Amino acid sequence: MNGKQDKKIGIPVFRAPEGMRAYALSQRAAKQAIGLVPTMGALHEGHLSLIRRSAAENGRTVVSIFVNPIQFDDPRDFARYPQQLESDAAAAGKAGADAVYAPSPAVMYPEGFSTFVDMAGISETLCGSVREAHFRGVCTVVTKLFHAALPDRAYFGQKDAQQLAVVRKMAKELDFPVEVKGCETVREPDGLAMSSRNARLADKERIAARCLYRALCEAETLSRAGERDAARLREAMQAVIGAEPPARIEYIEIVDPVTFESLETAFPGALAALAVYIGDVRLIDNLTL
Ligand code: AMP
Repeated sequence: MNGKQDKKIGIPVFRAPEGMRAYALSQRAAKQAIGLVPTMGALHEGHLSLIRRSAAENGRTVVSIFVNPIQFDDPRDFARYPQQLESDAAAAGKAGADAVYAPSPAVMYPEGFSTFVDMAGISETLCGSVREAHFRGVCTVVTKLFHAALPDRAYFGQKDAQQLAVVRKMAKELDFPVEVKGCETVREPDGLAMSSRNARLADKERIAARCLYRALCEAETLSRAGERDAARLREAMQAVIGAEPPARIEYIEIVDPVTFESLETAFPGALAALAVYIGDVRLIDNLTL
């Protein structure tokens, strides 16, 4: 599966940066704009919506599939992350991808690897405050993906709003010639944001997991009615989550949508964001007020 077109998959799968870059250079030489959709695999409708958008806006779409070890603070979480390259690559192709980039951890981070891209400020709140070195891992891997796939545009989901903001800031500040595009969160019919982690929820936990979106909607309703006190908005969300026994709050915040600093006074456009464990599955979600 190294750059070759596997019949079952239908599109080339590159396993190392050299092959990926050679493909990208040939496409650029042929005047094809490249859209990159970085993922960790276990593709669902949320990922596929990013791939379809990229395919509509670019001549070529590359989907990267790489479970990035250096952005996990918990080795058990990394070990449990689903890996299903063949079916993912086939699904990416069906949604409009032209190539897949799926390097191994050993290719990405060979023995002795010690260069990292780090960001102060915005990456230190919310997920950055509870997941040690998480955004350092994200910035480093996205830099490497950009260098291999040479995209004109890169597509990230609003579901990981802080990641989207961090990548956008990094691309700007490090002069990457890449337009970072934010895409709407795709939800299950009951509101739960689609996530590769949802598959790990037991039946009762899956029902309890509805509380994330319900809590965000509660904050939005209060905000629409004029509530500006962030503490009251947080309390209302805590009450919704607290009513579900398998749910354990990691953080609930009202933040500035650009700096991700905690707000005392909310405003229209502020972001309600939360991270909640349902059993041992960590879920995140957010909603613009
Ligand atoms: P992941 O594989 O979870 O790292 O996600 C890869 C990309 O897909 C990220 O940019 C995510 O924000 C995005 N994504 C994940 N879930 C969703 C969703 N439910 N709706 C839209 N985008 C999503």
